[in-house]
Amino acid sequence: MPHDLPKAYDPTAIEDKWAEYWVRENLFAQPTPTGGEAQQDTFDILLPPPNVTGNLHMGHMFEHTESDILIRWHRMRGDRVLWIPGTDHAGIATQMLVERQVVSEGTSRQDLGREAFVARVWEWKRHYGGNILRQMKRLGASVDWQREYFTMDDNLSVAVREAFVRLYEQGLIYRGAYIVNWCPRCQTAISDLEVVHEEQKGHIWEIRYPVSDADGNPTEEFLTVATTRPETMLGDTAVAIHPEDERYLHLHGKKLRLPLVGREIPIILDDWVSRDFGTGAVKVTPAHDPNDFELGKRHNLPNINVMDETAHINAEGGVYEGLDRYVARKRIVADLEEQGLLAGVKDHTNNIGHCDRCKTVVEPRLSTQWFVQIQPLADKAIEAVNTGAIKFTPEMYKKTYLNWMENIYDWCISRQLWWGHRIPAWHCGTCGKITVARVDPTACAHCGSAQLTQETDVLDTWFSSGLLPVSVFGWPNITAENRADFDAFYPTSLLVTGFDILFFWVARMIMLGIWFAKDIPEKDGSSRSLANSVPFRQVYIHALVRDANREKMSKTKGNVIDPIGIVKEYGTDAVRFTLASMASPGTDIAFNIARTEGYRAFANKIWNAARFIFMNVDRAAEIGIAVDPDIMGRMPFVSNDSPIEEHWIVAELYKCAAEVNQSLEIYRFDDAANNVYQFFWGSFCDWYLEIVKLRLDFSETANREKIKTALATLLSVFEASLRLLSPFMPFITEELWHAVYDGNPPVRSVALTFFPTSSDEAYERAMGGIGFDTKPVQMFYFQNLIGEIRNARKEAQVPEKEAVPVALYAHPKVRTALAENLDIIQKLARVADIKLLETEPQGSDVFTYLGFFSGKVVYERTIDVPAERERHTKDIAKYEKGVAAAERQLGNESFVQKAPPHIVEGLKKQEAETRLLLEKARAALDALPKE
Ligand SMILES: [Zn+2]
Ligand SMILES: [Zn+2]
Repeated sequence: MPHDLPKAYDPTAIEDKWAEYWVRENLFAQPTPTGGEAQQDTFDILLPPPNVTGNLHMGHMFEHTESDILIRWHRMRGDRVLWIPGTDHAGIATQMLVERQVVSEGTSRQDLGREAFVARVWEWKRHYGGNILRQMKRLGASVDWQREYFTMDDNLSVAVREAFVRLYEQGLIYRGAYIVNWCPRCQTAISDLEVVHEEQKGHIWEIRYPVSDADGNPTEEFLTVATTRPETMLGDTAVAIHPEDERYLHLHGKKLRLPLVGREIPIILDDWVSRDFGTGAVKVTPAHDPNDFELGKRHNLPNINVMDETAHINAEGGVYEGLDRYVARKRIVADLEEQGLLAGVKDHTNNIGHCDRCKTVVEPRLSTQWFVQIQPLADKAIEAVNTGAIKFTPEMYKKTYLNWMENIYDWCISRQLWWGHRIPAWHCGTCGKITVARVDPTACAHCGSAQLTQETDVLDTWFSSGLLPVSVFGWPNITAENRADFDAFYPTSLLVTGFDILFFWVARMIMLGIWFAKDIPEKDGSSRSLANSVPFRQVYIHALVRDANREKMSKTKGNVIDPIGIVKEYGTDAVRFTLASMASPGTDIAFNIARTEGYRAFANKIWNAARFIFMNVDRAAEIGIAVDPDIMGRMPFVSNDSPIEEHWIVAELYKCAAEVNQSLEIYRFDDAANNVYQFFWGSFCDWYLEIVKLRLDFSETANREKIKTALATLLSVFEASLRLLSPFMPFITEELWHAVYDGNPPVRSVALTFFPTSSDEAYERAMGGIGFDTKPVQMFYFQNLIGEIRNARKEAQVPEKEAVPVALYAHPKVRTALAENLDIIQKLARVADIKLLETEPQGSDVFTYLGFFSGKVVYERTIDVPAERERHTKDIAKYEKGVAAAERQLGNESFVQKAPPHIVEGLKKQEAETRLLLEKARAALDALPKE
């Protein structure tokens, strides 16, 4: 019987069950609208697709927790909600992984050949890919699994091909020779964003180039150049000097004999050269340096590529052919030295680019690549953000985004990989021209020749993921019959993602999304505005999850927390709550297990509250008192004659609901979570449940009507609390909500019910009016009174469990209310008897609360004078020590200046508190009877 919950809360037992249930029942599927649905607001999110090779880390769990809270909240608010999951084929990462696998089997990618290798990758994907989605299922992410996609799915590949062909036809895709970042390990071009720069100790070599006269005859003179990559000299095609550099005026028009190679190269004049840097003479290697490449273009210099795809010297390097770049470097330096052409070697710290995937040093290299002419797309993407069609939270990312966009370069979209979307371009063996087509061509579009070979490059992974916002809703096949998804869900409402992919992905989605959506007319045939062409209306950039010491998690530091591991230990709900309780815009999370332990205890508290409630409901049922289930599933209500605690708890619930709704509106997950926590633990458990126990008197003489109303309010507030908690702790709330209905719930899941709401009117009704004499306000006074009595008990050293009498004076304004609720005061403050006074009591042991109440705890303590004297003396010594230590620290000027202000403030406060305790202890000692 579901009311019969196990005694102990065991998250693993319930979480596996519900995770499986949600997926099996397709609870979060959002079907394509048919047009007959009721009018609903839409709230949809596209999940940033993790790499198909990926495993869930803490950053994912944080991102998914925030998204899931918002999605569940909107769903419960009655919106048409859709969260679409999927994975990215992750070109380089996946290819590397399978390459390593085939190498371990003694073969290689090249041995297998393209077709067989790609088949191997698909096979790997079928068996091992998408582990992260399985982990998401276990963690209960409420995505629509029926819409799961993979970026190489057929329909998404059609979109990729259409996008490429359309941009090509629009003249926005071109092929050209440029300096790219080349990874010699991955043997592909990689984008600027995929290069990680790192400072490394290296050298700068000064090399003497012999000067020839205008006729090419050797002279006695040398021109010294400086370089950090001496091996590139094999590809030098000039040396540049500043035209006004007085040291070199006599060299204008002269030539140089390139050492080791023997090629004659010109001295060129260009005011790009900095006279103050190095020797003021710059060797020019257009095929291996982006600046030199530009220089070469200005001066019509030849481009000599001296390295192959693996960064070994090629035939252009003469005797150095076949050597690895670093081996060649050593040999070249040695040869120069031997020939007396090495002028010097200096230590130098270089900023070296590494491949983000495999950490190999990137080689700038001239190669022929495909590019998107990005400016027209960027212009629209800039306008969309400037006009507010897309909003960033935190707002500072707007500036970061615009700054990057306004300095954007053409996008190199080709990769020399096998795994990915192959570029739909064919080279003609007859006329040499290129045919780009939607359907594989059989003849050259220019000369009709059948001698076609397909381009071997594939597209950058981000080209396909950048199209997702349109392609997941059916683009490019948006027809009159086939546009319901697009009309309902585009633009998406929100993107929740990390800063690290702001340029890689967010910016590309904005550019590509607008570019292709703008050509899709609105449903009524009118043209689409920019505001409706954007891929999403809001971007929420979440912060980082760091370790408890605010250090970035990293494998090398060994401080990585595996989310699956701690979920097993504490339960998904506790981990989610930890993340939510610290999440607010722009604030990194210092993940502390101690907090998760605390939230695990919170879940336990909820569990025990449920057990207490069910036990009483069942007891009542045994004597024929049944609670009408219709009181549940809505906001609880109270009548004028409901007791004080019912008015109060219902008003607290409304207040909490209002605060949670407002907080989630502005991504203050922390405020929302902390409000729910305070409400449930503080108000519901610590106060309300304690008072309700007074009403649940099942004795012979009990008032059955009173029990019934008390249980009705108790159940309805508890049920509403579960709904309030549900987006944060979906598992335990699902379990307990089903139990509330004793296995006969009105709908299949708490996630499909309504989220508690409030309004000014509703809150006022729950309060029973406005102002001082409403029951919730009186309850507030009583809470404070109880607090005062508890303190007074402590001061008088009443043993914890002992009930003592209290003499109490109440202001006439609160007298009636007090008389009606004496039982509450007695129970919660452990008072044996309340003696009501006519006048305010006097004396040093009197407590007061705001003029409403004053009173005394009546307690005669038998005092062991020597023991008391010893206790106070010990305390005095301890406090004196504390004050002295604080004074010493605060007297240390350099400490006060250097320490963060909150530390100094804290110390001052602590000192003041200790001083107060010291005075009290001294007074207490003085007050003891003298011997
Ligand atoms: Zn690499
Ligand atoms: Zn042709």
